[in-house]
Amino acid sequence: MKPLGALLALAGLGLAWQLAVAQDAPATRFLAPNLDSICEKDARQDVFFMASDEMNGRDTLSPETRMTAHYVKTRMQQAGLKPAGEKGTWYQEVALRYNKWDTPPALSLTTVAGERKLEYGRDFVGAGGPGGVAELKDVPLAFAGYAVNEPTRNYNDLDGLDLKGKLALVLRYEPTPWRQGGRRNPFSRASFLQTKEQQCKAAGAVGILLVTGPESLGATDNRRDLPDPGAGEKSPPLELDLKAAGAQPASFPFLHITIAAADALLGGEGRLQKLQQEFDQGNFANRPDLAGAKASLSMKATAVVRTCPNVLGKIEGERDEWIVFGAHHDHLGQGYFGSRSPNKMGEIHNGADDNASGVAAILEIAEAFATCGRKPRRSMLFITFTGEEKGLLGSQWYVKHPTVPHDRVVAMINIDMLGRLNNNEIAMQGTGASKFLLRHCQEAAPLFPELRVTMTTRAPIPASDHWPFFSEAGIPVLFPMGAIPPEMHTNLDDPETIKYGGIVLGARYMAEIAWRISEDPGYADYIGPVKTAVGPDGKPRDPSQPPPKKPSEAREEDFSHR
Ligand SMILES: [Zn+2]
Repeated sequence: MKPLGALLALAGLGLAWQLAVAQDAPATRFLAPNLDSICEKDARQDVFFMASDEMNGRDTLSPETRMTAHYVKTRMQQAGLKPAGEKGTWYQEVALRYNKWDTPPALSLTTVAGERKLEYGRDFVGAGGPGGVAELKDVPLAFAGYAVNEPTRNYNDLDGLDLKGKLALVLRYEPTPWRQGGRRNPFSRASFLQTKEQQCKAAGAVGILLVTGPESLGATDNRRDLPDPGAGEKSPPLELDLKAAGAQPASFPFLHITIAAADALLGGEGRLQKLQQEFDQGNFANRPDLAGAKASLSMKATAVVRTCPNVLGKIEGERDEWIVFGAHHDHLGQGYFGSRSPNKMGEIHNGADDNASGVAAILEIAEAFATCGRKPRRSMLFITFTGEEKGLLGSQWYVKHPTVPHDRVVAMINIDMLGRLNNNEIAMQGTGASKFLLRHCQEAAPLFPELRVTMTTRAPIPASDHWPFFSEAGIPVLFPMGAIPPEMHTNLDDPETIKYGGIVLGARYMAEIAWRISEDPGYADYIGPVKTAVGPDGKPRDPSQPPPKKPSEAREEDFSHR
């Protein structure tokens, strides 16, 4: 599941209430064939392979992730699937780009006490890795607090601040009292680097010097006030390379400096901590006037483009209508990016639950259906995605370059982290956005009394690869989600501690639901952001939308407009 720091606020998860599963006639018999073939032995084999130290934590661009993709392809082939990638292959190459420093950046800060040259790697690093091309000479600075404007909290520490043409000195994260303990991510969108960048850019700043305030050091289990300088180079942030002509690294410098460097700017040791304590309470009265301070910096990074594959296999059904299964096969490598135990950077984050367990689940479902001797009514496409941890990159790429037209797809089922279910509890994300899918989840649930299934009533959360399908392609989605285990995104997510029974149970439940969707002559409704989405029946997926115009009607209308 994606590291939240990067992209999302999971506020209001919305596990509202357990819908009386018995609303619809509970199923009394399994419809899906061959469920017994979904077994712990195979799941264990897959997880132990993908989460082995040899696979080195499957960081997106690592050679081990390509080996994992090859392993998945072999398993699909053995299971009897057909290739469904590009040009008749099993693969779809995803083009990714990242930035690399040409030369380490140079930064100097001048105050009334004199000029101070900061050393890259010791006094500052690139916030979020290498990036940007910039030459700034003696630019003024301003203290922007957390650069947070949160009307719901009546907090705006940018209010009345002139940042035009200045370098903004910004506190990392958000006001300390806002931190929400015990959640997968104790931070909100306000803490995201992108959010701070947008806020400061909009206010006219020419760049950001980020600092982790002393009050925040306890906020994560990272006792360092400066991220590992090599981390952003060993596992750089990635983005899709969509061949935007002449796209060059952004020229908005975003550097991370130490507390000591910030204190020097603010006039002495402890100054930053005092300020942070005041800003934490919404007291901006003592915002320092940095009129006498200046900064100079030069940096140059170059974009590097690489590819790595999604893996795709299919089972052709009686109809050209499709159910898509997805699961990501990448993880965090050695934790240089997205780790929740940054003190363990350099140690393999094996990713047994996240997401070797989900890949094992869809491979088992694929094998069960491909070897059952019956053709499913609807066709099935199985995809394992790369780049999920770096921002849902593999699934975004697939949605932009589908191998099955989106309007031929009835529903997408994403499986991510089934290996550490707490008391076999899962919350079905997606049931709040499709009555058709809710019904099938409810009808099948009684067949799995060991599972504790709750249906969600809100839109699915953007926590994994179902999101681009739901938010960009307008496809109804299902995403069975367990509670967040403490091992998630740490070096402790090892195959030895996985609950294989939970993977098998969850996979069988999802297989039963999928087969029911396949057998159902109806089409899934969809309540979501893509209002124009049309299903394989040619009708709008969103029941509140008017039916698409017939060509004759469109021509008529067109003629009347002329
Ligand atoms: Zn993850």
